[in-house]
Amino acid sequence: MKVYNTLSRKKEEFVPLEEGKVRMYVCGPTVYNLIHIGNARPMMVFDTVRRYMEYKGYEVNYVSNFTDVDDKIIKKAVEEGVSAQEISQRYIEECKKDMADMNVKPATVHPLATQEIDGMLEMISTLIEKGFAYAVADGTVYFRTRKFEEYGKLSHKNLDDLQAGHRDIKVTGDDKEDSLDFVLWKPKKEGEPYWESPWCKGRPGWHIECSVMAKKYLGEEIDIHAGGEDLIFPHHENEIAQSEACNGKIFAKYWIHNGFLNIDNKKMSKSEGNFFTVREIKEKYDLQVLRFFMLSAHYRSPLNFSADLMEAAKNGLERILNAAENLRHLQENAAAQSMTEAETELWQGSDVFVEKFEKSMEDDFNTADAISSVFELVKYCNTNVGEASSGELAGKLYQRMEGLCDVLGIILAKEQEMLDEEIENLIAERQTARKEKNFARADEIRAILSEKGIILEDTREGVKWKRA
Ligand code: AMP
Ligand code: ZN
Repeated sequence: MKVYNTLSRKKEEFVPLEEGKVRMYVCGPTVYNLIHIGNARPMMVFDTVRRYMEYKGYEVNYVSNFTDVDDKIIKKAVEEGVSAQEISQRYIEECKKDMADMNVKPATVHPLATQEIDGMLEMISTLIEKGFAYAVADGTVYFRTRKFEEYGKLSHKNLDDLQAGHRDIKVTGDDKEDSLDFVLWKPKKEGEPYWESPWCKGRPGWHIECSVMAKKYLGEEIDIHAGGEDLIFPHHENEIAQSEACNGKIFAKYWIHNGFLNIDNKKMSKSEGNFFTVREIKEKYDLQVLRFFMLSAHYRSPLNFSADLMEAAKNGLERILNAAENLRHLQENAAAQSMTEAETELWQGSDVFVEKFEKSMEDDFNTADAISSVFELVKYCNTNVGEASSGELAGKLYQRMEGLCDVLGIILAKEQEMLDEEIENLIAERQTARKEKNFARADEIRAILSEKGIILEDTREGVKWKRA
């Protein structure tokens, strides 16, 4: 499997640190608002990378944080007159709902920055002891950038060029040793959340959070570190400096970055107001369409979002879903069950699409080409399977299609969500069954509801229900 590594600017053969296992860290969102479709791109792309690794038999430890302390969160909390924690908790919940709707698997762990302060204090102290960091009079702690000799290796930037860019922006009263030094810990301002530390009451800088969470949940050396390309500099460059200076080991073997999502060929940005939230898209489309649209391009290319491209994605996805539905129908209604000899050959003839699919994914996760192989399989099924086919052939081809689509996070047959009315009718039936001491039926109904994610609670006022 070949992976493009931002560090070497080359496609490299993927060799995990530990056989059969992948340790992967993906920088997650800062939670002060509903996520927009730009934030959704890395979520879908790296979820697909994870799914492909799992398809190949790797055990993936996938860690993705929520940045839950930040200027933007505090600003929003002040505007609403609530605590920063209330804001971050609210938008973590909303983000998790969007992730589920986009069929993004929950991470193995979703750490929160505010729960990992001890680890940050420890890493900062080690950096100070090793001479890689220093505290100034007001209690701010800075990383001594020039001391880390490899600084710039990820973004391929030269320190002197960087310094030239910085020269004019030195802030008065700023007692950094060098304009390149960046913040590890900063003093609190009035009304801000803060933690005690040896240097001042304050809070961590953004970069130290990820170095610490990656180390705690994945170890000092990890296989893959990922995020959007805007994070290469300074965020990931600074993470490397902190982690490698502290641990004395190479932090991540492969650095993978997704390209940006634009809108109508312009950079999508909150400040320009030209962005869509995932929720807004959900009003018009099944979010599978958004996922299919995102994966129709290579993850490193810039991708333009437009109504036309979404319509094209919708049509393409429907072609796959219709073919799958047709196979299911043929399987259920087939006269013959077992495959004939000729059908066995037809079945074997579809191997080539799986091979092509895998070949594309092995080439730096080329989902655009992988989707083409799914379309070829669709065409093959539409041409070769019909009412005279056996149930076995239709069923096997359906499973094959389902297996490939699952790597892309596309679900072929969505379970219909139960309507409130259906749930209430079943609950009423269960009550009657209980009155009639038909406990078998009552239990059966509870199980049916539980399967659909409906939780029942027997209270004094009657039965209450909620969706899980
Ligand atoms: P943020 O909440 O801004 O830290 O972003 C969370 C993740 O979304 C990071 O990996 C960003 O690189 C990524 N991201 C933000 N905007 C876009 C965009 N327009 N296109 C692609 N990725 C983005
Ligand atoms: Zn990060």
